[in-house]
Amino acid sequence: MICIPITASNINEAKNDMRKASKIADILELRLDFIRNINEKNLNRLLSKRKNKILVTDRKKRLNLLKKAIELKADFIDLDLTLGEKKIKEIIANKNKTKVIISFHNFKKTYKKELTAVFEKIKKLNPDIIKVATFANSINDNLIIFDLIKKAKTENKKIIALCMGEKGEISRILSVPLGAELTFGSLKQGKESAPGQITAKVLKEVYRVNKLTNPKIFGLVGNPVKHSKGILIHNKAFEKLKLNNIYVNFLVDDLTNFLNGFKGIITGLSITIPFKTQALKHLDKVDPIAKKIGAVNTVVKKGNDLIGYNTDSIGAIKAIEEKTKINNEDFVILGAGGAARAIAFGIKQKKGNLIILNRTVKKAKELAKELKCAFGGLKLIYLNVDCLINTTSIGMFPNVNESLVNKKLLKNMVVFDAIYNPKITKLLKDAKSNKCKIISGVEMFVNQASEQLKLWSGKSVNKNYLKRLM
Ligand code: NAP
Repeated sequence: MICIPITASNINEAKNDMRKASKIADILELRLDFIRNINEKNLNRLLSKRKNKILVTDRKKRLNLLKKAIELKADFIDLDLTLGEKKIKEIIANKNKTKVIISFHNFKKTYKKELTAVFEKIKKLNPDIIKVATFANSINDNLIIFDLIKKAKTENKKIIALCMGEKGEISRILSVPLGAELTFGSLKQGKESAPGQITAKVLKEVYRVNKLTNPKIFGLVGNPVKHSKGILIHNKAFEKLKLNNIYVNFLVDDLTNFLNGFKGIITGLSITIPFKTQALKHLDKVDPIAKKIGAVNTVVKKGNDLIGYNTDSIGAIKAIEEKTKINNEDFVILGAGGAARAIAFGIKQKKGNLIILNRTVKKAKELAKELKCAFGGLKLIYLNVDCLINTTSIGMFPNVNESLVNKKLLKNMVVFDAIYNPKITKLLKDAKSNKCKIISGVEMFVNQASEQLKLWSGKSVNKNYLKRLM
């Protein structure tokens, strides 16, 4: 179930929010401690017109309100473990049909030993559902929560378990598919009841958390990961392919720790900055072109082996080959970073002639040495080539009016910009108006995502569908 906490500060706002939330959520959590003018009479007003199941929570622990919620036949009430055994037992003895959740919170850390003890303690009080919510300081803290869900399942106990904070976000997404009773999602941004909560709409429409059971887990490993479009592309593609797969963002500080902990539960990964090179040394096998490039952006788990690929390279080459041949054509690449490496090695493999131009000439020289090709500074942009490729970030949102290349130079060539936001950069606009063939970074992105899908599932979706999602 997806539960939306109602965090309104007064009764009228709460009524309004309950009406809106009822269209998305399976259950609403009425947070009495947020409502300034809450009293027994007003609680009655709120519960009498409910359309969904209701969980009543009061972090201020006012017994009269919790007892009133039972009298008003709330579906669930939340009793904080700090209420004390005596009071909890008394309420449970008189709970009638209301189900009781006993909850434990640690707003500072997630600590396995503590959670194991808390689980046993709550279990003894015999609630309908055990709830633990603790703060994640590292992505691996989520594993403690997943283990607890597993333990509850093997003991036939119902559990709600999650990590708070940005690094706990994946537990809010994965806990229900892994067997927890419910997860909390906010009505909208700004209406969260705890740090790290994402919206119920995203939980439902992007991640399908209420539809998947024990899915295969995929995700993007990087830092930062927030602005990636992968979660939209891959989850929608999985849905279209009717796969019991889910794709999440893993906000990772330490790659070694992450892979040690998560190797057992993931099926595939995308890798982004700053781990594309570092990932190589953790893999059991690496595809030859990825090895040459010295960077992986895709990992597939086969048996117990992690295998690395570079689909940026394949994606770019496919996009270029849709507009021009590569063999024996002249290419200039602007930039000498990660995208440049992936594209350059792809072109070299297909026997294209290559020149690398970069702001920092030393970096162009280093890359050119590996590729055995020519190099130079950006002042050589005037060179006459068959295809010009921008892999620098010049022209990327928000600086959409910038371009490294004078429009007059863009003649009789194919122009490819690796940037995908915006879809058509100033460079591409200029090239198009000079009647050059153009290739957007969206093509490369969609191709590389499509290659990832194929590597992970053996299946593909229509490229235009992926482009529409972008
Ligand atoms: P990167 O490794 O950080 O490389 C950035 C490159 O841009 C370097 O060559 C850098 O030159 C150059 N640059 C940065 N600021 C510049 C400036 N003011 N003037 C001139 N050159 C400048 O980044 P990356 O991973 O290669 O990504 C580069 C772009 O490609 C980004 O826009 C990214 O979104 C895009 N990309 C697209 C895809 C796709 O699927 N379409 C995939 C990967 C990347 P210096 O060496 O002098 O710093």
